[in-house]
Amino acid sequence: MIRYIKDLALVEFIYKIYRLENEWERRYLLDMFFTPPIEYEPPVYRPPSEWRSLLIQLTIGCSNNKCTYCDMYRSKTYKVRPIQDIKADIAKCARAGMQPEKIFLCDGDALGAPMDILEETLDCIHEFFPEVRRIGVYATAENILEKTSEQLKTLAQKKLTMAYLGLESGDDKILHMVVKGNTAQDMIEASLKIKEQGFKLSTIAMLGIGGKKYSEQHIRATAEVLSQTNPEYFSFLTTFAIPGTPYHRMVERGLIEPLTSKELLIEMHDILEQSTFDLNKVIFRANHVSNAKPIGGILPQDKAQILETLKLWIKQTPAGVYPKMPASM
Ligand code: SF4
Repeated sequence: MIRYIKDLALVEFIYKIYRLENEWERRYLLDMFFTPPIEYEPPVYRPPSEWRSLLIQLTIGCSNNKCTYCDMYRSKTYKVRPIQDIKADIAKCARAGMQPEKIFLCDGDALGAPMDILEETLDCIHEFFPEVRRIGVYATAENILEKTSEQLKTLAQKKLTMAYLGLESGDDKILHMVVKGNTAQDMIEASLKIKEQGFKLSTIAMLGIGGKKYSEQHIRATAEVLSQTNPEYFSFLTTFAIPGTPYHRMVERGLIEPLTSKELLIEMHDILEQSTFDLNKVIFRANHVSNAKPIGGILPQDKAQILETLKLWIKQTPAGVYPKMPASM
């Protein structure tokens, strides 16, 4: 009976959090509530849509760690965690009574880990959390291309079915400039390959990454890659020159001229306008903290309405104004 009363109080507590109108407050409280009983090697990042997922660090840092605009894992030396540590984390979360619906494997590109580590991790997750619905991971095109189709299929059969790919731009000149390490063709091949093996693909593009000089080719080429790959999910981030990064130094030296708020909106509008999504429905979101205003919908059905909203925002945004970098970046 006491257990029943406690459970009722718990349900009521969670219900109250869900009913909070302020989304950030709601997320903050839920984050606190779902805080797992394991220690992470900070900093830890996850996609916005994985905010309720249990995070398990499979690798530390990023195996590429060279993209000039990115400072996420510069403080970390890349390594694959020992499998016994990964398993111990999963077991601790299970013993603490966690029942995650989704799990996200960190850090920067955990899909690059060797197959035996990935498979053992997924098997351990299924042993402790047989009800888990989906497991997600950040991936680079390199990670995908270096695995065989058979290997990707094996991972997908073990519920690793969500891959977040940082396309950033579909333009080779820009990808080379930011030392992304892959070409647009690599991105297309990797996207199609992982989708064919049962993964859902979430592609991320960066507004303003090429600066004013390459804006037009960024729009054209990014729309082309999106049209060819038709990811299930697609989102935009806004590029900010983060102090300490090579990208920031290029901006300071005048080699990259950042876009104004109005120009960033025009890029978003034009990429969406020029993209054709005709193979599957694409869930589109531009709700990252770096984006000035959140917008989203399902493509292509909401495309006209989204473009209309963007046109209105472009009209309302004064020229010559630059976006402010969010404090949390
Ligand atoms: S691959 Fe991703 S995490 Fe790694 S350096 Fe590039 S942007 Fe950063």
